[in-house]
Amino acid sequence: PVVTRFAPSPTGFLHIGGARTALFNWLFARHHQGTFLLRIEDTDRARSTPEATQAILDGLKWLGLDWDGEPISQFARSDRHAEVAHRMIEDGTAYRCYASKEEIDAFREAEKAAGRPPLFLSPWRDGGTPPAPDAPYVVRLKAPRDGETVVEDQVQGTVTWKNETLDDLILLRSDGTPTYMLAVVVDDHDMGVTHVIRGDDHLTNSARQTLIYRAAGWETPVFAHIPLIHGPDGAKLSKRHGALGVEAYRDMGYPPEAMRNYLARLGWSHGDDEFFTTEQAVGWFNLESIGKSPARFDFKKLENLSGQHMRAMDPAHMLQALSDYVASQNMPPFTEDQNAQILAAAEGLKERAKTFPELLEMAHFILGQRPFEPDEKAAAQLDTVSRGMLSRLTTRLQHASWTQAALEAEIRDFADSEGLKLGKVAQPLRAALTGRTVSPSVFDVMGVIGKEETLLRLADATG
Ligand code: GLU
Repeated sequence: PVVTRFAPSPTGFLHIGGARTALFNWLFARHHQGTFLLRIEDTDRARSTPEATQAILDGLKWLGLDWDGEPISQFARSDRHAEVAHRMIEDGTAYRCYASKEEIDAFREAEKAAGRPPLFLSPWRDGGTPPAPDAPYVVRLKAPRDGETVVEDQVQGTVTWKNETLDDLILLRSDGTPTYMLAVVVDDHDMGVTHVIRGDDHLTNSARQTLIYRAAGWETPVFAHIPLIHGPDGAKLSKRHGALGVEAYRDMGYPPEAMRNYLARLGWSHGDDEFFTTEQAVGWFNLESIGKSPARFDFKKLENLSGQHMRAMDPAHMLQALSDYVASQNMPPFTEDQNAQILAAAEGLKERAKTFPELLEMAHFILGQRPFEPDEKAAAQLDTVSRGMLSRLTTRLQHASWTQAALEAEIRDFADSEGLKLGKVAQPLRAALTGRTVSPSVFDVMGVIGKEETLLRLADATG
């Protein structure tokens, strides 16, 4: 069975690269009906905060990436990490090193002077008597000196390191706390992680971690190191390019399913498919189709996908998603009447909206209140001539029956009688009814708000 994990350090928000890593792990686990675990790497006590942990959990929830079981705290497992290091000392695959900082620095300087890489070779590697019974020590891995360490990476291919370039890394510090490298290996092993999918900034770590797995007598997981996300110009992703926390995308009003679709395409592909559902992505996801070169962040593409997902929503889902957005922005919830009108207008509303704020703008005729203050463009549609025309229309509408077909026939007939094209009537009418120049069709608007409200708004605009 497949077990993956997402292992963020809680030192800030869930940024877009982390969200993509989480998504890939989630997709892979769900594809294989496996398990997706969450581990909070909170060993850096100075930089880890509960707020950051919460922001990560919130970000994952918003994205719909549900994890299995409870989140695991790495810090809470320190004793277990130390226990493994001490077992490795007994097994002879790790050792106590009593070298002082001065000795280590001096050794490195000498290596450098001799033209060799400044790697520390501990004199304690092969044992010896401690300088004093209670002398402080670190625990180091007894790494192989010769040969090579090879990682068969699912994305990067076969990656080889000469062992002479890898020193005896520290497993436990002199205060007994585990290093990051040890903690990750022990946790991944104990959690039964079968596939480690993460950013390729961790590729070199995988060589060192492989050595720890071997020393501990454990099987290594499958590694897949994904190229980092770059900006549209190919440079490292910056804030300007979209290196924001996922909550920024939530606030901009992208639906979570659009975000999942977009993030999945950032570095993974399924033929030429750009637009797909999360169910499809789960069905298709594989490590073989992760690209080897960095994906480029592209806001235009995100917007485009977002619009497509918006249009694909059924009315009930659209209303729910919009209500969730409104709640996330601490805006007042919709009333029952507004809910009903949004549902009735759903098809027309979502046609042109790429984000939730755009959807809210389209729904202004439902969410706003009389009198509908026209915006600048709408005001320009309501000059004296147009207002006169709208008063004559009002008189006719008083006797109209309020069905889509009847209204359309009535207004066409009215336009003819005025010698106007339909648009010349519809545009001022829209401005009067919605205060905007963009909205669903005027027939939709009139149908949704009803006869009485239509006549009141017309009276406001022409009075
Ligand atoms: N905590 C690491 C990070 O946030 C991830 C380590 C890993 O995935 O092995 O970059």
